[in-house]
Amino acid sequence: MQNILDQVYEQAVQYTRFGKVADYIPALSLCDGSQLGLAMATKDGQIFSVGQAEQRFTVQSISKVLSLAYVLTVSGEDEVFARVGKEPTGDPFNSIIRLETSARRKPFNPFINAGAIVVSGLMPGATPNERIERFCHFLADLVGQDNIVIDATVYQSEKATAARNRAIAWFLKELQLIDGEVEDTLDVYFRQCAVLFSAVDLAKFGLMLALDGWDPCQKRQILIPRQARIIKSLMTTCGMYDGSGEFAVEVGIPAKSGVGGGIMATVRDRMGLGVYGPALDERGNSTAGLEALRRLSNALDLRVL
Ligand code: GLU
Repeated sequence: MQNILDQVYEQAVQYTRFGKVADYIPALSLCDGSQLGLAMATKDGQIFSVGQAEQRFTVQSISKVLSLAYVLTVSGEDEVFARVGKEPTGDPFNSIIRLETSARRKPFNPFINAGAIVVSGLMPGATPNERIERFCHFLADLVGQDNIVIDATVYQSEKATAARNRAIAWFLKELQLIDGEVEDTLDVYFRQCAVLFSAVDLAKFGLMLALDGWDPCQKRQILIPRQARIIKSLMTTCGMYDGSGEFAVEVGIPAKSGVGGGIMATVRDRMGLGVYGPALDERGNSTAGLEALRRLSNALDLRVL
């Protein structure tokens, strides 16, 4: 397994030069676009990794999976999907257009920004601090760590520049999909996006999803199988932004990417995969990460679609 991962790394790392690090959040432009880290957590509890797999980076949109998992456990499926749909959009992650034009008057899914901001608004707690603390507690349990670190620079950088996300959030307020203060909900959202994980952490999370919510390291059920199924289905249809269809054809496994360069992927009953490669294509997906997953899927026959 390690040999395959090493070979895939050697080939995929060449693709870092075809991408660019995100710069619309100013602090992200400081990432090193030439980096690539790959990690694999297998059902029998082994971890394989290569490159910058231990390097921590901000999870960004991958936090939308984490927050959905959390809110499903604390609020339940009915409450969540009363406010957000389960349908792909084909639009970029930060699109606002369908909020106004769709008759449904709620975001299409929890993985576009509009849907994720609604989900952040469902986190329980009296203040943004308390909400994020309780969320981080859930995450610490999830990856078996003592504490979860938030990158204060990236958080502040996004908070200071997020005009479009503010516009989306105010629109959601008008649709009565956000209770309480808009800025408080955005604060929770920006902080969850700046949670630091490594590719190894992502692989462990992916493995838990692969095993229908069972964590083999901690030997306990973290999510009920239906919650894991909801998350994996949405990852399949909406996880790779407006490149989700092509990813399904080329790689064929549920995955979720973030503009920090991460991709978390899951292969039913077999493994979780984590990628860090901050050079992105025009849709916001890691160029080297996409190539690595495509090669791994072929080499190990991972395709489930
Ligand atoms: N914090 C980012 C934003 O809201 C996350 C986007 C992403 O990773 O797709 O713009």
